[in-house]
Amino acid sequence: MAFTIGLDLGGNTINLTGYDGERFLVQEMVEIPARVTEGPDACLGQLEAAFEKALDYLGWTRDQVGAVGLDTPGPATATGVLCHEGPANFGNPSWGGFDIRGALEERLGLPVAYLNDANAAALYAHWSVFGPDADKTSVSLIIGTGLGGGIVAGGRMVVGRVGFAAELGHAKLPCDWHPELSIPALCNCGQKSDLESIASLTGIEKNLLPFFLPRYPDHPLHGLPAKEAAKKVRGLAEEGDPMALEIFRTQTYAIAAHLELMINALDPDAVFIGGGGVEASEAFRARYLDGIQSAIHYREDQRGLPIHIVPDGDRAGARGSALYALQTLRL
Ligand SMILES: [Zn+2]
Repeated sequence: MAFTIGLDLGGNTINLTGYDGERFLVQEMVEIPARVTEGPDACLGQLEAAFEKALDYLGWTRDQVGAVGLDTPGPATATGVLCHEGPANFGNPSWGGFDIRGALEERLGLPVAYLNDANAAALYAHWSVFGPDADKTSVSLIIGTGLGGGIVAGGRMVVGRVGFAAELGHAKLPCDWHPELSIPALCNCGQKSDLESIASLTGIEKNLLPFFLPRYPDHPLHGLPAKEAAKKVRGLAEEGDPMALEIFRTQTYAIAAHLELMINALDPDAVFIGGGGVEASEAFRARYLDGIQSAIHYREDQRGLPIHIVPDGDRAGARGSALYALQTLRL
């Protein structure tokens, strides 16, 4: 049995884990700086340092490692070539079209398996409930600055023809997604009214605050820069602020409408919601999941679809990557 190491490369840090085929052997957050803004060379040095740190931490030798799993913000191809513009939060033009998987594989002299970060979190969430080989299907929505998706079918990640499967944030919402209101929304991808244009931090900033704030003329968020105001909405919702609650209720309508499409397409065994957007109190999360659940129009036979929060949110990417490396080895 070969061991795998998972490396989750984010805009600021690289989070690492080790998987021995049964258990994850890193329980706390073990991270090193990512240095993405300095470009690929500096960052690859950090990825190699993270790999060495993992060996050290786990007490493994290089020979015991069968493969390395890597995840980064997308979009990227199935083989780990980053999109044309490079990930939005990497802040350096030389990432555009860069083959990060191939470059790391060459550097480490070990097979490297690649997923985008939402897919990696989705694979871990699926595994955490159904185990590694279960014949089950799940849909994950990872809500952060944008919205990333992940579909696991029959226990395996669906990556698609070119790696763009489950880009669910850019799936259009049906025109009647909100039961009462018509909210104009534009996504960074150029589309009107897709899921990310409502259910993401960017959606709050660009579409939901401009729509709802004028309806609350005395609201304390008036006058703040849009980015800053958007980041305060969740905290306000936790304190019971009516406008902030309405914004999150609006997101639950969009997510529910999207999930109705997914339920008809896949009839999944579970749905997972994760990402920074749900890093909040238990009470907030429970209300958010309840809101989604009660807004879904189920066919009578399909009632009772479990909707969970992605467990171990900040470690899910590295863990999913390590799992994917093992699945790839077994092919
Ligand atoms: Zn979009």
